[in-house]
Amino acid sequence: MEIDELEYEIFEDGPIVRKVTIKEMRPCIVAENMIRVLMQLDSEIGEVIPVLITKYPPGKVNYIENKKILTLNIYKRLVTLYPSGKISMNKTIDKEDALEVVTEIMKVINEAYNEINSGDVANYDELREKLSNIGPLSLYNCLPKTDCEKCGEKTCMAFAIKLLSGDVKLDKCTPITDDLPDDAVSCLEDLLGTQIMQTMGWKR
Ligand code: SF4
Repeated sequence: MEIDELEYEIFEDGPIVRKVTIKEMRPCIVAENMIRVLMQLDSEIGEVIPVLITKYPPGKVNYIENKKILTLNIYKRLVTLYPSGKISMNKTIDKEDALEVVTEIMKVINEAYNEINSGDVANYDELREKLSNIGPLSLYNCLPKTDCEKCGEKTCMAFAIKLLSGDVKLDKCTPITDDLPDDAVSCLEDLLGTQIMQTMGWKR
């Protein structure tokens, strides 16, 4: 559908992104009665994209390293972020829905930018190596494997799968968060690193 390009000021004083322009809205090819939206941020974000990987559950992230293109499976849709600041989003209800989601993403971009500037970012090579090792089985191997159901899941493996996709938070496993068994905590720290652990709901 043809639209007049409209620029929206989302944050008055964001450190890297403040405004977004909706460039195009077309029917979504994978979801009936929904739209695909193309947007443009007011800054390039190539420097920030590798850090954004740590801000979302690993199961939600797909990163094309040589092009620095990041696709996130979040808010029940695919959102692709390009170094130029272009963002595409499918399965979107309408313009307001697109703006709501992009506002949340812009918040995270600004946070990541602040972290870069404060030097509070993990070594990217280490991070990439960690991400390649994170899967349901490696997560499961760090859990107590008692299938106690205290997290609301029938098994530790079911919990590990949902943890990977961000559908549950790590702090729901109270045998770990309350009792802090050394072997489980150090296993998670080695596997995930501090930043990803926090993204997964670790609050200590
Ligand atoms: S609470 Fe922890 S130990 Fe118990 S089933 Fe869930 S993941 Fe396993």
